[in-house]
Amino acid sequence: MAKHTIVLIPGDGIGPEVTTAAKRVIEATGLSVDWVTLPAGATALEQGFDTVLPERTVAAIKAHKIALKGPVTTPVGKGFKSVNVQLRQKLNLYAAVRPVRSLAGVKTRYEDVDMVIVRENTEGLYSGIENEIVPGVVTSLKVASEVACTRIARYAFKYATERHRKSITVFHKANIMKLSDGLFLDCARRVHAAEFPNIEYKELIIDAGCMKLVQDPTKMDVLLMENLYGDLLSDLCAGLVGGLGVVPGSNIGEDAAVFEAVHGSAPDIAGKGVANPLACIMSGVMMLNHMHEEALGEKIKNAYNAVLSEGKTLTRDLGGSAGTDAFADAIIAKMK
Ligand code: NAD
Repeated sequence: MAKHTIVLIPGDGIGPEVTTAAKRVIEATGLSVDWVTLPAGATALEQGFDTVLPERTVAAIKAHKIALKGPVTTPVGKGFKSVNVQLRQKLNLYAAVRPVRSLAGVKTRYEDVDMVIVRENTEGLYSGIENEIVPGVVTSLKVASEVACTRIARYAFKYATERHRKSITVFHKANIMKLSDGLFLDCARRVHAAEFPNIEYKELIIDAGCMKLVQDPTKMDVLLMENLYGDLLSDLCAGLVGGLGVVPGSNIGEDAAVFEAVHGSAPDIAGKGVANPLACIMSGVMMLNHMHEEALGEKIKNAYNAVLSEGKTLTRDLGGSAGTDAFADAIIAKMK
């Protein structure tokens, strides 16, 4: 088996707990791997770096092209620019892909949810261009470029085609943001008409789209949207299938890919050993698939499905009392 090198970024809060669990589960598949562990977030400052995103961390991802990342804490309303936004912009990780699926053994209001959020990851309101025009008046610029809108639309249609998905729905607010969301729609329509007529194409104004999502998420397939909407809808959709502990994610670019759960650093439960590591483990499965180690990913998937279905070893967010490590141990035991 070829040896892989993976950059591991433990991150802040529950990050070290869930990434350690994911690392143990991935190693238990027999994958031949060298981990290059590097900091980001408040942890980097604590380790003596003068920035939350050390150049060494970015350079390692560029060199090895693949990373498994824990969440990082981002101060509200002040302080440094988000590590995630910087990382996605610096590495041009333009597509965030977040599968949201019902899991056997995780009881929610809905069954048979199986959708994928594809989020544009580099511009929109997350471009970080904010100005104080005069004291008491600030602006935040929403950027949409034809290149980035076309690129993410093409990614979503290609993804849908390869995964045998039937439809793509663009969530937008082009009735208000006629130019920026209008461009996003134009690009998606063009890519659909010219390159992917095989996929059904739909549009929903995002407010009505949110209502439809919570009324019956089983009707949704691939959802395509710009940056902020994708951020918000990811958490909303996580709530439909069991919460943030069960939704994985990837940030994909031409030259590198960073895999991380949708959830944040969860300071309310950090250091207590109770965080659900499943979203991070599932992100690890997405990473293995990306590395063409699908059989190993399948092994993990079968193991966590078995643990969830049994229902004996569940973390608190899923109604159980198991800790982070015990849950990872139960998955590892199922792989033997
Ligand atoms: P959060 O996702 O950290 O937590 C929201 C709620 O979900 C909390 O009650 C938390 O305990 C729970 N939760 C989250 N993950 C869980 C898990 N794996 N198991 C069990 N429960 C879990 O969101 P927040 O509290 O709004 O943000 C905390 C920090 O994380 C902020 O600084 C935010 O900027 C940052 N953040 C980082 C990322 C990232 O690095 N990718 C993503 C989102 C938020």
